[in-house]
Amino acid sequence: MKAIVACAQTAQSCPPTQTHTQTSPQKLHISEQPFTIRSWHRHVNWLNTSLVITVPLIGCIAALYTPLQTSTLVWAVLYYFCTGFGITAGYHRLWSHRCYSAKLPLRLFLAVAGAGAMQNSIRWWSSKHRAHHRWTDTRKDPYSAQKGFNYSHMGWVVMEQNPKNKGRTDISDLDNDPVVIWQHKYYAWILLFSAWLFPMLFAGLLWGDWWGGLVYAGILRGFVVQQATFCVNSLAHWLGEQPFDDRNTPRDHFLTALVTLGEGYHNFHHEFPSDYRNAIQWFQYDPTKWLIFALSKTGLAYDLKKFRNNEIQKGRLQQQQKMLDKRHSRLDWGTPLDQLPIIHWDDFRTMCTKNGAALVAIGGVIHDVAEFIAHHPGGKSLISSAVGKDATALFHGGVYEHSKVAHNLLATMRVGVLRGGQEVECWKRDSGVGLDMEILE
Ligand SMILES: [Zn+2]
Ligand SMILES: [Zn+2]
Repeated sequence: MKAIVACAQTAQSCPPTQTHTQTSPQKLHISEQPFTIRSWHRHVNWLNTSLVITVPLIGCIAALYTPLQTSTLVWAVLYYFCTGFGITAGYHRLWSHRCYSAKLPLRLFLAVAGAGAMQNSIRWWSSKHRAHHRWTDTRKDPYSAQKGFNYSHMGWVVMEQNPKNKGRTDISDLDNDPVVIWQHKYYAWILLFSAWLFPMLFAGLLWGDWWGGLVYAGILRGFVVQQATFCVNSLAHWLGEQPFDDRNTPRDHFLTALVTLGEGYHNFHHEFPSDYRNAIQWFQYDPTKWLIFALSKTGLAYDLKKFRNNEIQKGRLQQQQKMLDKRHSRLDWGTPLDQLPIIHWDDFRTMCTKNGAALVAIGGVIHDVAEFIAHHPGGKSLISSAVGKDATALFHGGVYEHSKVAHNLLATMRVGVLRGGQEVECWKRDSGVGLDMEILE
């Protein structure tokens, strides 16, 4: 950037009104600077790193010295589902996408359970996620899959990000939700309670396994929930099918759904983000959808949003059509008619009778059958007899009603278009006169 600075030189060498341009050193954000031995630590977001790497590592070491009791294992799995649903049914489908509405007790439960997944507050999470949907795969996508699997999985969490690249989103609705504001304000305390204290108290008070509760249902369970959520940003943009749209990276896959409580039908989700379902088929694994549906029966969840099946089928069909068109374009369908030279009937005749070309006119198009004569299934003589003539009627049932394959093959032999259309011999035969070329033109 050029900065205009006042001349600091003396009046003798420079008039007082004159200015000089000077290049100021542009300060690059750390994320845009190279990794060096001196600066690597400045690239790391240490708070996030401690929550997603250091704490789980401590948990792994502690697990070596903590026997795993069956009750604690069952509790850890149950609590995994609880906090996982806090993210999928709460942070994601309720707050980020407003796929349904929830009564206060449910909102409170999801806010506290979601905090136990150690993925920052609803407000922060939803703002990033809305940016991800709005700027999918671009520089403003906070976890763009275009930056690689590792980046979209965890890299964006543990590395410092340039705030200039932040994609802005409207979260005014969240700012009007007292539960969201309360959770954001007291996030650190709620996290401490629901990520570690509550699972420890539960196992400790009920069956005396205080350490097991903290290590397995607290720390390691939290690690698994974090990794599962990260898979939505990495795996769901990398593995699977794209039945609705292939312009961006989101994909559908059962495996991703399995590890993410049903968030794996991500291609559908990016197309229909405000639908409370990720999986639309009854047999697809989407426990978050089943939970929301069950909660709607109790009245705690209501106003569940669904896209009309008509819109979903249209999206699927358009993508199928696109794929068909792509496959169609890879095949040789013959030179398009508008790219062929226009040839006079007399020239066509001359080329065959005097120059020895093996051309046949069918449907106003001239075909070079020289190399095909020997392979003609109906024999050489029939096809040879049509050389230099209009064989439209012959080809279309006069002698034999040729198959679709024959039509396709014929199209690959196109070499020209007859001026005026065609010289249809059956019309000539019936009327006894040549076709009035002016009528065709
Ligand atoms: Zn996505
Ligand atoms: Zn989403």
